[in-house]
Amino acid sequence: MGIKVAKFGGSSVADGIQLTKTKHIIQADPDRRYIVVSAPGKRFDSDNKITDLLYLCKTHIDHNLPYDQIFQVVADRFMAVEINLGIEVDLLKHFEEIRENLKKNPTADYVASRGEYLNAVLVAAFLEYDFVDTANLIRFDSKGKLLAEETNEAIREELSKHERAVLPGFYGSGPDGNVRTFSRGGSDITGALVARAVNADVYENWTDVSGFLIADPRIVKGSKSIETITYKELRELSYMGASVLHEDAIFPVRNCGIPINIRNTNEPENPGTII
Ligand code: ASP
Repeated sequence: MGIKVAKFGGSSVADGIQLTKTKHIIQADPDRRYIVVSAPGKRFDSDNKITDLLYLCKTHIDHNLPYDQIFQVVADRFMAVEINLGIEVDLLKHFEEIRENLKKNPTADYVASRGEYLNAVLVAAFLEYDFVDTANLIRFDSKGKLLAEETNEAIREELSKHERAVLPGFYGSGPDGNVRTFSRGGSDITGALVARAVNADVYENWTDVSGFLIADPRIVKGSKSIETITYKELRELSYMGASVLHEDAIFPVRNCGIPINIRNTNEPENPGTII
């Protein structure tokens, strides 16, 4: 059996409908054994991303303003998914623990990371995969720099005990044991680190576009996707503002020759772009 690491971005896990598509994609290929998830993103244009709401919570805490209503909006979104999909995880217990921590003026990184954490708990139950927290696996030094080799070893060792697992993207922890996050969009990096650690055949990055397109789809309707591009071309595209993939997601897989495949959860039959 091969190994594919599949990372699903915010729009692919935004609600029960999107999560059902995600589950079909995962079940269509038994090699999709390690799944990395972002926090739920926007369901429609004017919607809020869970991560933005969590940062907003933290800003309220810092200003001594009531934040419970904002946290309740976050909690309600997860509850709705749990009910819609008929999953049973004790979300209330997790909310209780987070609420207790919010009273202790936690770091912004901790608060922001709870979107990925709760989502991974939920998705693991939905897929009947193991939940593996990345807090103890992805390691940063005291300045917030990723300890790449230590991280690689820790993920490799832990995942050797799990045939199938869901892992939260975006965060790990520092030497003091406190949660540290990557910069925004950092779940892409988590996916790449997991792909490297398990020596995956491919790192699939599932998003809401079918890879890199020949032209801006907002300007040219029905733009075709580019089948393959090189890492060098990708760099140039990034400079031009193509924000499909976090730029730090490239180095972990590039050196080991693991291809990245950008795919569209809403159009799974499209092969997307291979980097
Ligand atoms: N949820 C985080 C963000 O919105 C990380 C990610 O989605 O990759 O930036």
